Amino acid sequence: MPEFVEAEAYRRTIEPVLGRPMVSVDIRDDRLLRRDAADESFVRGALEGSTIDATRRIGKAVLFDVSSGHTALLSFGLRGWLMLDGRTARATGHDWRARTRRDAHVRLQIEFEGGQRLELEDQLRLATLELDPDESRFGIDVLDLDLDRLREILASSTTAVKTVLMDQRRIAGIGNLIADEMLYQGKVDPRRSASELSDDEVADLWQGVRRTRERVLERNGSHQGVQIQSGARERGSCCPRCEVQVERITVGGRTTYFCPSHQR
Ligand SMILES: [Zn+2]
Repeated sequence: MPEFVEAEAYRRTIEPVLGRPMVSVDIRDDRLLRRDAADESFVRGALEGSTIDATRRIGKAVLFDVSSGHTALLSFGLRGWLMLDGRTARATGHDWRARTRRDAHVRLQIEFEGGQRLELEDQLRLATLELDPDESRFGIDVLDLDLDRLREILASSTTAVKTVLMDQRRIAGIGNLIADEMLYQGKVDPRRSASELSDDEVADLWQGVRRTRERVLERNGSHQGVQIQSGARERGSCCPRCEVQVERITVGGRTTYFCPSHQR
């Protein structure tokens, strides 16, 4: 599932076409607009003939500010993928990766003057395009989070700490894989009540948040955590630190893996 790191890669994918007029905007799937009160012709009219002046990312969403005065927001659902002429930028660094394009799964195609094509592919049809979104619905972006803010956010909720980390209205950008990795690295049991963590436990969790952010950005993907790469996200596998079997549970409706030995 695209988390902040994939969204950052998609944001960078748009950068080469900044300032180029959009010649055509082809919305191939009306479900793409389901979050939006505007209809397809209005959205097309707001974009066609205009240029993208800036790109931004908030959490798992990519926004682009358009010369017509509108802002468009793309969210990627569970498997959405953005590419420019069949390639996607990395979250950091300069090389791009190619992707085999599947025309049947292309939901949005924007063609620019000069011929470049920006395409959103989404087999599951869960991605959305929204015009002039209410940006106040997003919490602090995960890359802007610091220890003091994390402490404040956790103290304000008695919900399970994993659920708080994944609540996009509090912290934007953390999905299921990254939440599990942060808790694994931060040595905290995902079921603990957020406000009941001690100062030391919050400090440990903060280290987990920080390390996870760095690692997944550097390695360009939310599936690049220690937990998943060591096989500790598989039923019946062992924690590589403790050699204790990992547990698979559900927290806030989401499948969760954790180590009952070092996550307390
Ligand atoms: Zn362990």
